[in-house]
Amino acid sequence: MNKRDLAQQAATGNGEFRTKAVRAGHHRTGEGEHAEAVFMTSSFCFPDAESAKAAFVDDSGDNVYSRFDNPTVQAFEERLAALEGADRCVATASGMAATLALGMAHLQAGDRVVCSQAVFGSTLNLWTKYFGKFGVEIVTVDPFDLSAWESALSDNTRLAYLESPTNPRCEVVDIAAVAERVHAVGAKLVVDNCFCTPALQRPLELGADMVSHSATKFLDGQGRAVGGAICGSDEDIEPIYLFMRSGGPTMSAFNAWVFLKGLETLDIRMRAQCATALEVARWLDGQPQVKQVFYSGLPEHPSHELAKRQQSDFGAVLSFEVQGGQAGAWSVINATELVSLTGNLGDTRTTITHPSTTTHGRLSEDQRQAAGIQPGLIRLSIGLEEASDLIADLSKGLAAL
Ligand SMILES: *Cc1c(COP(=O)(O)O)cnc(C)c1O
Repeated sequence: MNKRDLAQQAATGNGEFRTKAVRAGHHRTGEGEHAEAVFMTSSFCFPDAESAKAAFVDDSGDNVYSRFDNPTVQAFEERLAALEGADRCVATASGMAATLALGMAHLQAGDRVVCSQAVFGSTLNLWTKYFGKFGVEIVTVDPFDLSAWESALSDNTRLAYLESPTNPRCEVVDIAAVAERVHAVGAKLVVDNCFCTPALQRPLELGADMVSHSATKFLDGQGRAVGGAICGSDEDIEPIYLFMRSGGPTMSAFNAWVFLKGLETLDIRMRAQCATALEVARWLDGQPQVKQVFYSGLPEHPSHELAKRQQSDFGAVLSFEVQGGQAGAWSVINATELVSLTGNLGDTRTTITHPSTTTHGRLSEDQRQAAGIQPGLIRLSIGLEEASDLIADLSKGLAAL
């Protein structure tokens, strides 16, 4: 490796967000490649038996096996850790695998998890249906009610878990205020930062202990691969890494490379998508067929002030309720042509979803009411198309009402 390579490698952890996003965790093999190499190998070789023993038994740091030691995966982990302001990160096969690894590493029978009721459906299901089987107690709370957190947090609470902003109504949870209450009982706060990404919100700076991600969404941002990650201090991440070694829900090297590339454009994508989301939200707000728009960038949204304090922008996901309930929402969705009808979000292509019959379709009517998922509600995850084209497409949709 020449001097310039060494200097560049040493500099990768420094600089502003956009600099870190393209340079942090950039390993060089010595072949002179500019883009990161993809280490598609299951195992690694040793020059002699002594080095093999050192790698296996004495933690020499040499690569052993890709379930826990892949350089491309490590490059992604280092880059995301740098962006979240974390000591360390562990990449996982999916966002759900990150939550699974978190629970396996940090919980035991008799512990309590206090979880916001406004989190991704599979997250709640994983806690209650699976961790519940092994004697972990799950208590759900209204995340906006600080006294609800206080009464749920107990001496046996090990983890508290929340997502902010919430899906699909864009409501913001006060992370610093919840962190203070969680720490008062000696528990750890974990924040799912999927909707904002570190480009807009850094939960560790607000007092959270760990950040979990579905890399599938905005981190990739181009709808190409499923993956996840969890970031935090060395002390909190080490047990998760050790679980990954034994449990194995690892990210593939190829997907890690895709996500590395996704991180390079994360900030510019998020800024552009937020700007378009605000433009679309303002336009929707003036349409007679629209009863209400839920976007924290609008001054009348209940979370507007908190979002301004806690996030550097308002995000790319918004929702709106149309006249005519479910039939109205379906006719709007069916009349659009440009936007993609899919449950996914965080893509360069704008996606449209009817939450009450898809993402939230398995909830009971009462649960949907409590979460504010009206039958006329439509969710948009704004992509990189020109705002005027999105507005023209949504106009076609609204004209169908
Ligand atoms: C999609 C999603 C997850 C789960 O991630 P996968 O990569 O699909 O496993 C978790 N949390 C949030 C907020 C999500 O949107």
